Amino acid sequence: MTKGFNTRAVHAGQTPDPTTGAVIPPLYQTTTFAQDGIGKLRNGYEYGRGTNPTRDALQAQLAGVEGGEFAFSFSSGLAAEDALIRALLVPGDHIVMGNDVYGGTYRLLNRILSVWGITNAAVDMSDAEALAAAVAAGGPDGGTKMLWVETPSNPMMKITDIAALAEVAHAAGALLVVDNTFASPYLQNPLALGADVVVHSTTKYIGGHSDASGGAVILNDAQAAEKIGFIQFAVGAVSAPMEAWLTTRGLKTLGVRMDRHCSNAQTIAEWLLERPEVERVLYPGLPSHPGHELAARQMRGFGGMISVQFKGGEDAARKVAESTKLFTLAESLGGIESLMNYPSEMTHASVKGTELEVPVNLIRLSVGIEDIADLLSDLEQALDAL
Ligand SMILES: *Cc1c(COP(=O)(O)O)cnc(C)c1O
Repeated sequence: MTKGFNTRAVHAGQTPDPTTGAVIPPLYQTTTFAQDGIGKLRNGYEYGRGTNPTRDALQAQLAGVEGGEFAFSFSSGLAAEDALIRALLVPGDHIVMGNDVYGGTYRLLNRILSVWGITNAAVDMSDAEALAAAVAAGGPDGGTKMLWVETPSNPMMKITDIAALAEVAHAAGALLVVDNTFASPYLQNPLALGADVVVHSTTKYIGGHSDASGGAVILNDAQAAEKIGFIQFAVGAVSAPMEAWLTTRGLKTLGVRMDRHCSNAQTIAEWLLERPEVERVLYPGLPSHPGHELAARQMRGFGGMISVQFKGGEDAARKVAESTKLFTLAESLGGIESLMNYPSEMTHASVKGTELEVPVNLIRLSVGIEDIADLLSDLEQALDAL
């Protein structure tokens, strides 16, 4: 029987060190491995870019928590995305992505991969007609080979039906990739819902402590996995041992952290709804959210991310973003500490003036695991000052 999530998070890939019995798999801070004769490797370890036991332990743990056969870890989420796309697509292939994907994903596709002939179109994934038309149209040089979605999306918190999207993708002979960074594997497992590939920025919830950058690709198809493994080795955007080790440590407590992120965020979202300064609260845990029922079906909780729009427009949003004391104004998300972000000028500055532009009256909260009363009073003083 498959073990429960927290058991897998703590134990997958985490067997005690065979030589010393160290309960925690050691940090193998090394770039190379001694050979017992030319080509006589110990357990296959040869050179750090290719393989490292600390990275292997993380990869096994990542596969375990997403319920996938194969996992590869990279130096960042974007490095993982780049490796995945260049491993599985060729020039002429076309990607249809959600029209509110992470700004860095949009930039990677439009400024880097498009130059190499991999084209893309952005559509509202929840609009079935627009999606069908975009998938059928393909690109100027070839067909649609990949659908790319984030759910919940960043920062508009849109929820997309992964199982339905997998059907659309497969009917068109395309792969469905889900960026599962916002939900984390504790709340949502896209492979079980029919997706072909899951990507993560492990920099966020999986690492969880804002101290290690990383990315991951997880999938079940052996042939595709071989290609991704080859790019990981041949290009080398791998996790460094220390980063892999920290990420492994973070991932073990993902479940307990997410429970607190979810309950704190639910309370804050409900509190914000009652405030007269607030125009709209975007949080899938609110029954008023258009994706609430779908999220309740395909996720096991609603997550720790909230976006808020203010009646006072850009001025009000900027003022709140700059006047909290516990919520730190910073990019990134998913750490134990609460963060505040003004996407229009920060995380999503790269999509300004494009179809992915974020409203200027919106702030995004990454709700941490601090005491809820302290978080609420911090927000209260910031909103009272408007
Ligand atoms: C941060 C993020 C990424 C990129 O990850 P990096 O580790 O910063 O390279 C991709 N997708 C989402 C949803 C993110 O939040």
